[in-house]
Amino acid sequence: MSELVLEVENLTKWFPLKRGLTLRTKGHIKAVDDVSFEVYRGETLGLVGESGCGKSTLARSILRLVEPTSGRVKFKGSDFLGAEGRDLLAMRKRMQIVFQDPYGSLHPKMRVGKILEEPLLIGGYGDAERRRGRVKELIGLVGLKEEHLSRFPHEFSGGQRQRIVIARALATTPDLIVCDEPVSALDVSVRSQILNLLEELQERFGLTYLFISHDLSVVEHICERVAVMYLGKIVELADKKALFSNPVHPYTQALLSAAPTFGARPGRERIVLEGDIPSPANPPEGCRFHTRCRFAVDLCGTKPELRDIGGGHLVSCHLFGGGKEPE
Ligand code: SF4
Repeated sequence: MSELVLEVENLTKWFPLKRGLTLRTKGHIKAVDDVSFEVYRGETLGLVGESGCGKSTLARSILRLVEPTSGRVKFKGSDFLGAEGRDLLAMRKRMQIVFQDPYGSLHPKMRVGKILEEPLLIGGYGDAERRRGRVKELIGLVGLKEEHLSRFPHEFSGGQRQRIVIARALATTPDLIVCDEPVSALDVSVRSQILNLLEELQERFGLTYLFISHDLSVVEHICERVAVMYLGKIVELADKKALFSNPVHPYTQALLSAAPTFGARPGRERIVLEGDIPSPANPPEGCRFHTRCRFAVDLCGTKPELRDIGGGHLVSCHLFGGGKEPE
């Protein structure tokens, strides 16, 4: 395996639930709970799951856009959560994020040239002349022209705006880019163009992506490995081919069977999940999926570990702890 870029160990993010006039803490929303995984240089790790499963909170916790409650994040071997001052700034330059809504993440009253220059200024990148040169280089990297630098965000299409966001993310020559639903808000016709651009840039600069999406066909297109989240926890993580052709966790099986492009494939059984996702403020004890799982047994009242069942295929399910498999 190549160089480790990101190591996430037992990461947890709980939000306090405050109620009443005194705003006393009455509980916690357990958005991310004891999550561990690794991402290697040059790969794209997909993170999938229903909305509200905690994938975006996980991404924001990794980048400290929200401070995690506990756990560790290592970036290229260095402790990121414990970093402060110059060390933190230096690491932040190498870890960027692309959000779902390109319009919302661009200042509407700033021209594109200024938007792209801002991270260079913050990062102390050379003098005005060097910054101008870098801004021109960035706009070209994402397939736009120099004349676009003098325009405002509202003068662009959704796809062009996402290109500008990607250019801004590239400004500080990052190693890792977290892509949080980067094509979900775009027209279907431009999605593949943005995905192709991300792939080209990855190849050219050796970028590593953590790619969050609820769209399994997009994830199948762009990712090498895929992690599946349910109610704040990773329940399965595997090579893309293994996960899509042979999903073993009962939740992954249900998730794939409900997706049009996967559920319709030969030999795939349609699985309808009963009941709603439980509240993350009061998640079920033991296996969090046991309230909706068709294979649940008494043992599922205790917490399953995320185990390697062979070839780096990780599953959190008691059915795979003692050699027993779903029938
Ligand atoms: Fe289902 Fe039990 Fe496996 Fe959880 S541990 S997924 S409830 S069989």
